[in-house]
Amino acid sequence: MKTLMMREVCQALKGEMILERDEHAIRRICTDSREAAAGDLFFPLIGESHDAHKFIPMAIEGGCRDLIVSDSAILADHPLRDQLTVIQVADTTEALQQLASYYLSTFSMKTIGVTGSTGKTTTKDMLYYICSEKYKTARNVGNFNNHIGLPLTVLGFEAGTEVGILEMGMSQFGEIHLLADIVRPDVGIITNIGTSHIENLGSRDGILKAKLEITDYFGAENVLVINEINDLLTRENTNGAYKTLTVGSNGKSDFILSDIVDNGEEGIAFTVEHKLDTQRFELTIPGRHNAINGTLAVAAALELGITMEEAARGLKKMVLTDKRLNIKGKDGIKVIDDTYNASPDSMKAGIDVLAAAKGMRKVAILADMLELGKDSPAYHRQVGEYAAQQQVDLLIAVGKESQHMAEAAAAILGQEKVRYYREKEALTADIKGLVQLGDIILVKGSRGMAMDQVVKKIME
Ligand code: ATP
Ligand code: MG
Repeated sequence: MKTLMMREVCQALKGEMILERDEHAIRRICTDSREAAAGDLFFPLIGESHDAHKFIPMAIEGGCRDLIVSDSAILADHPLRDQLTVIQVADTTEALQQLASYYLSTFSMKTIGVTGSTGKTTTKDMLYYICSEKYKTARNVGNFNNHIGLPLTVLGFEAGTEVGILEMGMSQFGEIHLLADIVRPDVGIITNIGTSHIENLGSRDGILKAKLEITDYFGAENVLVINEINDLLTRENTNGAYKTLTVGSNGKSDFILSDIVDNGEEGIAFTVEHKLDTQRFELTIPGRHNAINGTLAVAAALELGITMEEAARGLKKMVLTDKRLNIKGKDGIKVIDDTYNASPDSMKAGIDVLAAAKGMRKVAILADMLELGKDSPAYHRQVGEYAAQQQVDLLIAVGKESQHMAEAAAAILGQEKVRYYREKEALTADIKGLVQLGDIILVKGSRGMAMDQVVKKIME
C-alpha cells in the first residue's frame, strides 16, 4: 500500500486519537494478530463468534504499535502503552470500510466491479490480464470479495495503480450496495443470475435485485455490462440512468459472441464482434462458459480505452486460479480440480469440461451444493440427470443432499455406473480402489464439503 499518516487515518475515520506517540506513517493494514508486525495498523474486528480486541496484546507483541479500537479497556495497563498510537472508533469493521473508501479517493484510478452468481473470480482475473496490457492494474487476491476482504484488497493497492478490478460477492440484500459504496465502480459487470444463496434472497428475481445494487451509485457516465444469454439479464430488467452494454450470441447484442471452439482441457477459442470490429480470442483455460466470461471482460475493458486486439493479447496470457477447473496429472490419471465451490450452473459447466475429454474414462465425483433452500433435492436431481446425459462413465455422489443426484443419474445410466457415499470420509478411504489408470476425474462440491481433500488423496 501507499503509506498513510496516522493523523490522516484518524481524520478519514472521524475517530478519536486516544493515544499518540508521534505523527508517523503506517505501511500495512492487518486484521490477523498472528501476522501483525512493525509498521502495521491493526484492526481488531468483531465477528459473530470472536472479538479480536482480545488479541491486541498479541499484535503488539508481534511489533505492531498502531491500533484502531472500539474498546480500549485491554490497553489500560499495557506495559507498552506509551509507545502506542490508538484511534478509537464506534465500529472497527465500518472503520476498515471507511478507510478503504478514503484510500481509493487518493488515487486517480478507474475501477470495475464484478458481480454475478458464478464466474466472478474468473472474469475478474480475465480483466486483470487484459487491463495489465495497458495499465498498472490491481485486483482482489483470490476470492477476497466480501465486506472485509474487499476493503483489505483495496488497502493493498500500490501507489500508481491505474485500474482496480474488484470482485463483489454477496449472500444477502444490501451487501453489494455496501461494496459499491466503498468502490464507486466506473463500470459494473453482472455475469449471470443463478441460484446461489436463493435461501436468503427468496427467488431468482430477488437475486437479480441484489446484484443490481452494483448500480446504486451509477450516473450517466457509468456503464453496466450484462450477459444477455442469461434469461433474467435483459435490457428491460437492468435499465437505469446509466449506459447498459449487452453481451450475447444474437445480432441484437452490443458484443456478439460466436464460433466457440472447445479444445477440451487445452482451452477454448471464440470470436467477438463489436460495431465494425471482429476479433478472435484464444484462452488456455477450459470451459465453454469462459467464452461468455471472456466477452464480458472484453466489453468492460473497451470502456477503459483498451482495444480488442490488446484484450486478445492479454486474455491469451491468463492462467487459472487454484482449485477452479485446475487440471492436474499423475501416473496416467488426470484430475479436474474444481473443488473451490459449487452451484447447479457451475456443476454443469464442470461436467461439460469433463465431457469434452477424449479417450479417457470419465469419472465425476460430485458432492453437495449447499445453501439451495427447499428446492435443493430438485437441483441435485438436475445435476445427476445432466451428468448422465453427458455420458459420464462413473458418477460418485457424496453427501446427504447428493443422494438425489445419485438416484436421478442411476435412473438413466443404470446402478452400476453410479456410486453413493453419504460420508466423504468413507469415499476418501475407498478412493484408491475406485479410480484407475486412464481416468479423467472431475472433483467438485461446495466449499463446505472440502472436496480438495479427495483430490489430495487421489494425487498421493
Ligand atoms: P464465488 O461465489 O465462489 O466467489 P465466482 O462467482 O467467483 O464464485 P468462479 O470462481 O469464477 O465464480 O467460478 C466458480 C465456478 O463456476 C467454477 O466451477 C466455474 O467453472 C464455474 N463458472 C464460471 N463461469 C461460469 C458461467 N458463466 N456459467 C456457469 N458456470 C460458470
Ligand atoms: Mg469468487
